[in-house]
Amino acid sequence: MAMNRRDTFKLAGVAAAAAAMPSMAVASEKKAAAKKAGGKSVVIIGGGFGGLTMAKALKKKDKNIDVTVIEKNNIFMACPFSNALLGGLDGVTLSTFVGDYYQPSAKYGYNFVNSEVTAIDRKAKTVSTTTAGDIAYDILVLSPGIAYDYEKQFPKWDADKIEQVRQACPGALISGSNEHVALHRQLENMDDGNVIIVPPAKGKFRCPPAPYERTAMIANYIKNEGIKGKVIVLDTRGGKFAKAKAFKESWADIFPDIIEYKGFTNVTDVDPVAKTITYTEFKDADDEKGVSKTEKYEVCSLIPINKCSPVIAMAGVEVNASGYGLMDGYSFRSKTDSNVYIIGDAVTHAIPPSGQTAIWGAHRAAGQIVAQLNGKVDDPKAGLPAKAANVCFSMVGGKPEEAIMVTHTFSADKSGKLKGKGNVPKPKDGNGKFRSKGTAKATREWFAGVMREMFA
Ligand SMILES: Cc1cc2nc3c(=O)[nH]c(=O)nc-3n(C[C@H](O)[C@H](O)[C@H](O)COP(=O)(O)OP(=O)(O)OC[C@H]3O[C@@H](n4cnc5c(N)ncnc54)[C@H](O)[C@@H]3O)c2cc1C
Repeated sequence: MAMNRRDTFKLAGVAAAAAAMPSMAVASEKKAAAKKAGGKSVVIIGGGFGGLTMAKALKKKDKNIDVTVIEKNNIFMACPFSNALLGGLDGVTLSTFVGDYYQPSAKYGYNFVNSEVTAIDRKAKTVSTTTAGDIAYDILVLSPGIAYDYEKQFPKWDADKIEQVRQACPGALISGSNEHVALHRQLENMDDGNVIIVPPAKGKFRCPPAPYERTAMIANYIKNEGIKGKVIVLDTRGGKFAKAKAFKESWADIFPDIIEYKGFTNVTDVDPVAKTITYTEFKDADDEKGVSKTEKYEVCSLIPINKCSPVIAMAGVEVNASGYGLMDGYSFRSKTDSNVYIIGDAVTHAIPPSGQTAIWGAHRAAGQIVAQLNGKVDDPKAGLPAKAANVCFSMVGGKPEEAIMVTHTFSADKSGKLKGKGNVPKPKDGNGKFRSKGTAKATREWFAGVMREMFA
């Protein structure tokens, strides 16, 4: 294998150095902490891949920084590798994905506040929460991830209809929600029939290979359970999606009678009671008319268009057309405010949004923040180009377990932007194919590594 998680995450497993000073979400305590700010206080919104990596990295670099993570969920649930749960891969259970927020906060000595952020006042340098009052900061880090944009995709649907479809056809792209559990249960309870997967219809979205990995993993489940049915993908991308060649090769080799990919479709309606989905199917990119079809489904995962989490708008920083935060050059500092950093899926750059990128960005931003708080300057271009800074694995088969991968090298371009260049390698143990057992092993190791990065 060219790369495994041990190469990428040397930091994981390093013994904790910081003194343990756990903190529970008590409003009065937090208000007192708010008054204290005015020195080295960092507040992080979002306890996901970016936020948890940042909190630990800051405390490891400078234990005198007062670090607080504010997270609305009381339990962590990882998205990466969750398609393996749907696929029924050996030994993969719900607890594989769950993390306890209080353990790393106690071990590394940062505060964990279980509350939802409702407003940000950049002038007063405070963050308002639903249950923990206002919290003051010197530096604010935003890592709130994404939200769904059903409204943009289906402008005729009212709030009730959106909620019905959200529950009936889980997108399962947002961590900490019940969607992964719901989709898993639906598969476990399904009769013979079809599973329909709808990748986001357009725009940038979280983990671009995820819908196609889900396709393979659900096909694996259907095959192993002897379910009479297909996995039908209703896509808009005409076959041009992340790791497309590698996915298509494995789909054709392993699940030729199960996966049916339709590349030129437009979903127009879902009836969650009748369990039908209506879409227009076009012959190709030039076909403007298309044919309307209605298909019955047993299980449907409709992944809506993504938009940025509303937390970025609360901060009032400059954003792009989809609401993602703009950063200052190569740094992860907001373009608008030198005391605000944006990391993870919520920031714009020309590299794919992923957990691995969120971790990479969090480490870079942590270096800049520690320097800033100590009156120094950290070169945001240092270490670029970074080779294979993003490694994204996708499971494509269960028996035997096989996976494919894409790597990205990150560099600084002349116009002052961070960009990524992708490569989908054929592994040495793949016998000329994109997939291999070694890559599947690396997938499991990578996932265990990122969980250690955040929780161990
Ligand atoms: C099915 C699937 C497979 C994936 N596979 C991979 C993979 O193989 N490799 C990879 O690198 N990445 C993968 N990803 C992508 C990865 O999960 C995301 O890119 C990563 O989680 C982004 O980190 P983040 O910190 O930006 O957001 P998140 O991890 O989503 O964290 C954001 C946090 O902010 C919290 N939050 C939001 N709003 C508020 C508020 N108002 N108040 C308080 N808290 C708030 C949320 O509850 C959440 O916990 C996958 C994703 C999916 C869905």
